[in-house]
Amino acid sequence: MPYTVTPIGVVRSCFKEKFAIPRQPQLAPAARGILELHPPFDQAHALEGLEQVSHVWLLFLFHQALEAEPRLRVRPPRLGGNRMVGVFATRSTHRPNGIGQSVVRLERIEPGRLHLSGIDLLDGTPVLDIKPYVPYADAVDDAHNGLANDAPELIPVRWTETSLEQARCEALRLGEPLQALIEQCLAQDPRPAYQTPTPERRYGTRLWDVEVRWHYPDPASITVVEVLRV
Ligand code: SAM
Repeated sequence: MPYTVTPIGVVRSCFKEKFAIPRQPQLAPAARGILELHPPFDQAHALEGLEQVSHVWLLFLFHQALEAEPRLRVRPPRLGGNRMVGVFATRSTHRPNGIGQSVVRLERIEPGRLHLSGIDLLDGTPVLDIKPYVPYADAVDDAHNGLANDAPELIPVRWTETSLEQARCEALRLGEPLQALIEQCLAQDPRPAYQTPTPERRYGTRLWDVEVRWHYPDPASITVVEVLRV
């Protein structure tokens, strides 16, 4: 039987494109956003007590990955993008009901708005519910996951003199830790695993209102070449 759900709010995120968003929350602490709550959840009553909580679970819709036909097996990028596994063994965006969940840091609360960091959410993501992180129940000491046990390996991210200066200027203008955000996101090597990058090939994505462009001087490191306001 179908059920209807209604978003309680929407995330205004630093991530304006899917490419280069970390694969899980907490991997880029400099990734920030604001959850704007819709009425009636924007009222102070709904948020009472939340100031005592450091992290929250967000349940949300992968609104840019919704599909009419359910997939039973998926190819997680984490496994190199060529190995298929059952959808329920993954945190893939291609899911039966398009529902994602992320635990994020609650930085501060304003009327009707939650300031968040460590997010892995695209701008405009509809949020279905918020739940407090409960350490004694949510942190499982002996948990293991044979498919994804460790955080992704990081690669070095370097700058040209110009791109670093551009990042610093844009960071000041935005009042955001832009340099850290770029380093944290790119260090996770966002390129699809099946692609061997040539030094000539440029990659890019949009963070806040800036276009970030980079290349791989060799397959194991990144150099940021441009950080420009769009
Ligand atoms: N932590 C969540 C989970 O486990 O359900 C999300 C994991 S999913 C692998 C993370 C990826 O989802 C990000 O790298 C980004 O590309 C994608 N993503 C984030 N927000 C999205 C949205 N609203 N619609 C579609 N894809 C989204």
